[in-house]
Parts: sequence; structure tokens; C-alpha cells
Amino acid sequence: MQPNRKYTNDSVGWRFDNSYARLPESFYARLHPVPVRAPQLAMLNHTLAESLGLDIRALSAEETALLFAGNVLPAAAQPIAQAYAGHQYGHFTMLGDGRAILFGEHLTPAGSRFDIQLKGSGQTPFSRRGDGRAALAPMLREYLISEAMHALGVPTTRSLAVVTTGESVMRETVLPGAILTRVAASHIRVGTFEYVVRIGGAESIKILADYAIQRHYPALGEADNPYLALLHSVIERQASLVAKWLLVGFIHGVMNTDNMAISGETIDYGPCAFMDVYDPDTVFSSIDHHGRYRYRNQPHIAQWNLARFAETLLPLLHSVQEEAVALAEAAIHQFPAIFQEYWLAGMRKKLGLFTAEAEDIALIEILLTWMQQHQADYTNTFRALAAESLPHDALFQNAEFVEWHARWQARLSRQSESRQSSFHLMRAHNPAIHPRNHRVEEALTAASERGNYSLLQRLLAAVTNPYADEPEYHDYRTPPAPSECVYQTFCGT
Ligand code: AMP
Ligand code: MG
Repeated sequence: MQPNRKYTNDSVGWRFDNSYARLPESFYARLHPVPVRAPQLAMLNHTLAESLGLDIRALSAEETALLFAGNVLPAAAQPIAQAYAGHQYGHFTMLGDGRAILFGEHLTPAGSRFDIQLKGSGQTPFSRRGDGRAALAPMLREYLISEAMHALGVPTTRSLAVVTTGESVMRETVLPGAILTRVAASHIRVGTFEYVVRIGGAESIKILADYAIQRHYPALGEADNPYLALLHSVIERQASLVAKWLLVGFIHGVMNTDNMAISGETIDYGPCAFMDVYDPDTVFSSIDHHGRYRYRNQPHIAQWNLARFAETLLPLLHSVQEEAVALAEAAIHQFPAIFQEYWLAGMRKKLGLFTAEAEDIALIEILLTWMQQHQADYTNTFRALAAESLPHDALFQNAEFVEWHARWQARLSRQSESRQSSFHLMRAHNPAIHPRNHRVEEALTAASERGNYSLLQRLLAAVTNPYADEPEYHDYRTPPAPSECVYQTFCGT
């Protein structure tokens, strides 16, 4: 195998400033991606590249593939694998980037900082028994779903490229290998804090907390107690994030503490999926046997994870331990109310409400209960409400729905905004198109088993413009036939 080559001059426009690699050596391992045999470009996100100030078009297709495979490194790259720990399904484990490498932190022309990470880039000191590699379909899945989430307005890591490696990976069957290039505000996780406090105690956790504040919450540096302010801010962002997931019907699938980012972005798309029929107990992940990460449990799990985060900060919150615990508990106990505020505000938008009334919760709950009882499609039902007239569907003739509809109409009449403004608001918050599981599976199978990317490209184009309702993509609005229903997704390895 060829060793990694380094570019001497960079036509792409990387501007690396690797601040994480300046933190204590125990936080990461320095190493290079393991070169792959025959990299070929499968997906490239030109829009994202341009917004990062990168000129990928300056490279040939071959050079692009070599770059995103990690075979050739930009001159200023200082690749590292990050160390972290995590509670997986409630159990603490030492982890780390077992199959990912942080290429570097790129500064955009506007001065924003992004991690550029290769996922599937070979073994690291944290690989445990894993091969350090990734299969093509799960990497394409992360690309597609993360870009869809971004277009839906949900904070998320993004996907810049997928290359196939020309190598096979052994899973239950032999699969084509691939590497995903992920772009993230950072890869600092709750699990990073869990790792650092265990290996280095109060001194190390202060270094990491100061770093996280500077990178993601710079205004907090001025606060009286910056670490308590950090805890409050992370709680706030996670509450907002998980509310957004619920509002678009998203189920992350594996909300372990190592998959929760301090930045507030959605991270690590494994067995994630969107609900078709509304059922709050929906769980897709093939390994989530007890439904720990089911749709309606997500706020509760986020709070649980944040409690693990708060524990790592205890030495910084107060010099007296009891006081520190009291501060942490008070902060964590606020989570449900903060979450509820975000969720309710989002639901009001989905129903075209500009004002707030105490009975809005009941209005929403009645609708959701009705949807569950009648197995109504989550996305389509909300989008149908946003149309000037309801579809002539037997579902909407149902007596309970008619009663609810009258109540909703009366509620709309009690605000001064016009119906037109309400419809406008609703169409901006109720997507017409989202990545339905059966269409995702269809597109991934064609790409990974037959090398045919046309379905994937078409689906990607549709889901990255989710509020537009373009007639040419109407087929993506159709829920799965019973025979097409996807009941399980597999942990993307
Ligand atoms: P995930 O379930 O993707 O969040 O991964 C959990 C942990 O397992 C992380 O530390 C990953 O780096 C590691 N991991 C997952 N797949 C592999 C693999 N094929 N080789 C090595 N480590 C892996
Ligand atoms: Mg992970």
C-alpha cells in the first residue's frame, strides 16, 4: 500500500488551524489515515464545499478521490483520532475514534471553524476489535439524512463527500467499503467530557471546558460562573435540538452519550429514521431491544445524557461538592420545561399559530392522539393542514377529526393574523418531502449493490428542498405500502 502523500501546494483552499491538536496529548492520538487501494468518488457536495470556501473543482476526479480517501493529505493537515468515552445503552465504556480521523479544523473565509473528519479511514488506537472501516450504504445514508436534516432546519453535522475504497469490508456479508467526509462544528461529545474527567480529573476537565466555551459559547467566558453557564447553554441547545427532531418525526436511534455533541448538532447517523405513521413508541434500530431510544423517549434520554455531562463538570461548578451537586441538579431539572417550550413553540408554527393560549397543548394533544388512533401519516397530515383545502380523504371526514378541525379553526380566528399568513407559516414548518425509509433503502440498494446513483441523486435533490412541494417529486410523498414498510434499521457499521 502507498503511504500517504502530502500536497506541497494547496489549490483547494484549505485553511487549517488545528486547535484541538494543541490540547494535552492524552486527549487524542496522532496518526494518519490508512491509505485505501482504489478510491473513487461517489458523492461530492459542491454547495457545501463552496460555502466552506473550498475549490474542489480545481482538482481532477482522481485527485478528489485521493483527497477524500485520506491517501493524500493537505500540506497543513495534522490528523488525529480523538479519545472519548460514553454511556452506551446506559453502560459506561471507553471508546474514541475507532474508525475516524480528524483531518483538521478548517477556517472558512468568514472565519467559522469546522472539523473536517474522515469516517471509515482505518484502524486507530481506539479501534478495539473493529476494522476501522465503513460500508458504503451506511455512509451514503449518513450523507443523505444529514443533508436532509440540514435542509429541514435541524442543526446537524454535514456531509462533504463519500468515496468508495475499492476494498471490501466484512460484516454479516461482504460489502463495498467507503469513507465519508463529515463536516462538524466540532466533535466534542458528552463522552469527551466523560473521558477527560476520568483520565485527568479537575485539571483536565477545566482545559476541555474552557476549550468548549471558547469554541462554541464564547460569550460565556465573561459569566460569573462560566462552567454553570456552559451547562445551562448545552441544556438549552439540546432541548431545542431534540424538540426539532420530534417536530419533524425524526428518531436518532442511538442516543448514547458519545453521540451527543456539545455544539448542539445532530451527530452520528446510524440506525436513524423518520416515522411514517404517527406512533410515539416507534423504534427502528435493530439493536435497541428495549426501545430505550424510541421516538417519545428522546427528551428523557437527552436529559439523562445531560446529567452525565453535568457530573463531569462538578469539580468546576463549586468548590464545595454539595453546592456543586445542587447547582447541577437544579440545571438538569429545568430540562423538561425548556424542552416543552421549544416543542410547543414549534408545534404552534406547525398549526399556523402566532399567539399563545393555554389550551394550545390540548389542541395539539388531541390531534396527535387522533393521528395515532387512525394511523395517520405524520408528515402528510401536517402538510395537508397547511393546504388551503383539505384533501378529499376519508381520514379527514372522520367525526373526531371534524370536531378537532372546528376547534382549530376557532383558535385561528382568535388571532389577528390572516389565514394566508398562517398557511405561509405552516408551509415553512411542515415539510412536504422527507427521506421516507422505503425510498432511502431503495436508493441505497441501487447505489451500493448496483453502482446506480441516479435514485439517490434524485432523492437527495427532493429532500434537500423539503418545503417546496415540487410536482416532479410528488411520488416521494406517498407513504409505504404495507409490503414496503421498513421496520428495522441497522447500526451503520
Ligand atoms: P457508533 O455506534 O458509530 O457511535 O460507534 C461507537 C464506537 O465504536 C465508536 O468509538 C466508534 O469509533 C467505534 N466503531 C464503530 N465501528 C467501528 C469499526 N468498524 N472499527 C473500529 N471502531 C468502530
Ligand atoms: Mg458514535
